[in-house]
Amino acid sequence: MLNSKPRKILIVGGGTAGWMAANLLVSKWPDVDISLVESEDIGIIGVGEGSTPHLKLFFDAIKVSDQEWMPHCNATYKNGITFDNWSHIAGFESYFHPFAAQTDDTFTLPHFFNNIRARMQGYQVDAHPDKYFLETYLTRQQLGPLPAESFPFGVAYGYHFDSGLLGQFLAKRAQKQGVNKIVANVVDVALNHEGNLAAVKLSDGTTLDADFFIDCSGFHALLLQKALGVSFISFKDNLFNDAAVVMPSPVTEVLPVETKSTALSNGWAWKIPLTNRFGNGYVYSGDYIDADKAETELRQHLGLLEADVDARHLRMKVGRVAKHWHKNCLAVGLSQGFIEPLEATAIALSFNTIAQFMQYFQQGNFSNQFAAEFNQDINARFDGIRDYVVCHYKANQRKDNDYWRDNAANTHISETLNKILYLWQHSPDFVGEMYKHNLMGSYQPKSWACMLAGYGVFPPLRAELAVDLAAQQREAEALYDFIRRCGLNFKNHRALLANMAG
Ligand SMILES: Cc1cc2nc3c(=O)[nH]c(=O)nc-3n(C[C@H](O)[C@H](O)[C@H](O)COP(=O)(O)OP(=O)(O)OC[C@H]3O[C@@H](n4cnc5c(N)ncnc54)[C@H](O)[C@@H]3O)c2cc1C
Repeated sequence: MLNSKPRKILIVGGGTAGWMAANLLVSKWPDVDISLVESEDIGIIGVGEGSTPHLKLFFDAIKVSDQEWMPHCNATYKNGITFDNWSHIAGFESYFHPFAAQTDDTFTLPHFFNNIRARMQGYQVDAHPDKYFLETYLTRQQLGPLPAESFPFGVAYGYHFDSGLLGQFLAKRAQKQGVNKIVANVVDVALNHEGNLAAVKLSDGTTLDADFFIDCSGFHALLLQKALGVSFISFKDNLFNDAAVVMPSPVTEVLPVETKSTALSNGWAWKIPLTNRFGNGYVYSGDYIDADKAETELRQHLGLLEADVDARHLRMKVGRVAKHWHKNCLAVGLSQGFIEPLEATAIALSFNTIAQFMQYFQQGNFSNQFAAEFNQDINARFDGIRDYVVCHYKANQRKDNDYWRDNAANTHISETLNKILYLWQHSPDFVGEMYKHNLMGSYQPKSWACMLAGYGVFPPLRAELAVDLAAQQREAEALYDFIRRCGLNFKNHRALLANMAG
C-alpha cells in the first residue's frame, strides 16, 4: 500500500455519494489529481430527499452556506420527523422525533424523563414526548430552525431537497475546485499482482488508472463488492422492506418543517416538502404486497387515485458490506450498504464514511494502518442505525395484519436492541443505564425514549396511585410557556426561505 498521499484518486459514480466524496476530497487535498467517472446510460437512483443534521456538517466542511445551496435545490428546513398512525393506542397515534436543541438537556428533558419514570410505575402522568421539545413546538407552528441572534441556544436541523439538483450543484462545485468529470461506462476492472485495484476499463476501450479508488457506483457495487469480492451482509431478516414506489404531489401554502412518516398497510409512506412540490414514497415489503397494490395504496393515501402522475418503482438492497475500506478502495453510499430510509440516514453515513476515512488515512500516513479500526467504527454506525429503525417495527404497537404482526414477532434483533428494550421495561433509570452500558449506538437516550414513549410502550395505569393533578397542570403550563417564549425567536419557515431566495 501507499505510504504517501495518493497522486491520483478515481471516484466511480456520480450520485450524491460520488459528488459529496469529490467535494470533501478536493477541499482537503487540493494537490491530488481527482477524477470522477459517471454513466449517462445508468444514471443515478434519484431519490433520497431528506437528511439529518449531518448534511449541515458536510456543507460546513466544504464551506458552503445554506444561502448558497438551498435555493438551487428547492430545499427546505427539517426539524425532525412525525410518525403518524404507527401506534393504535389511544393518545399515541402520532409523535414527533425532533433533532436536538440546546434547550433540551437542561430545561425540558428532565421533566420528560421524570414523567416517563412515573408513568413506568403506573402513575397517570403525561409522558407523551410532544410537549417536551422546542423543535416539536417550532414544527407545529411552522417555524424554521434558525433563531434570532439574541437567542443564545442553537437547534440542530436537517434539510429536504431535490436529490437530482443537489447532485448537479455538488458536481458543478467540485469541478470548479478542479475535479475532472468523465462521462463513460465502466465495463471492467483490473487488479494488480497484489490484488489492489489498478484501473477501470471504459466502454470505448480506454482505461483510467489511479492509486486509490472510491466506489460510489450505487447498488451496482462495481469495485468493492464485485471486483474486490468484499461480502455483503443482508439485513433482510431484521428489516423486511425491500421496495418503494415514489411520486410527487402539489405543495401547499403552509410549508411543513418536517418529514411525515405515515404507517400504511405493509410499510410506511414519506411526505417531504420541497419549495416546489412534495416528494412522496411508500416503502414496503414485496413479500406482503405487490408493486401494483402498493402504488394504488399510495395514490389513495395522497388523494391521487385519479391524477395523471407517474410513479417510479424501486427495489432496495438492505444491509452493509463487511468492510467499507479494503485494499486501495473505499465504498461510499449505496455501494457500501443501505438501511431503509425511515430515519433518512444514508447521506449521514456517506458523510461519516468519507470524513472519517480521510482522517484515518492521513493519520496512518496514507497506509491501511487504521483500516480495521475504521471498518469497525462504520459498521457500528450502520448497526446502530439498523437497531433504531428495527425498534420502530418492534415497538409500534400495530398488530392489524401479517406484516405488522410478523414484524412485532420478529426475533432477529441484535443483543444491543434486546438490552435496550429490556432496560426500558425494567430499569427505573433508563437513561443512566443506557450510558452505563454504552448502548446508545447511533442515537442518544432521548431519541430512544422519544420513540418508545411516543408509541405508548408503557405498562397499564394503576388507578390506586394518587397523582397531584393540579401540580402536574402547573408544571405543564410552565414548561409550555418556556417553550413558547423560546419559540418567539424563530421565523416562519416559508418567510425564512423567501428571504434566502433574495
Ligand atoms: C427509496 C429510497 C429512499 C431514500 N431516501 C433517502 C433519504 O430520505 N435520505 C437519505 O439520506 N438517503 C435516502 N436514500 C438513499 C439515497 O438515495 C442514496 O444514499 C444517495 O442517493 C446516494 O446514492 P449513490 O450516490 O450511492 O448511488 P446512485 O445515485 O445510484 O449513483 C450511482 C452512480 O454510479 C454510476 N454508475 C453505476 N454503474 C456504472 C458504470 N458501470 N459505469 C459508470 N458509472 C456507473 C451511476 O451512473 C451513478 O452516477 C433513499 C434511497 C432509496 C432507495
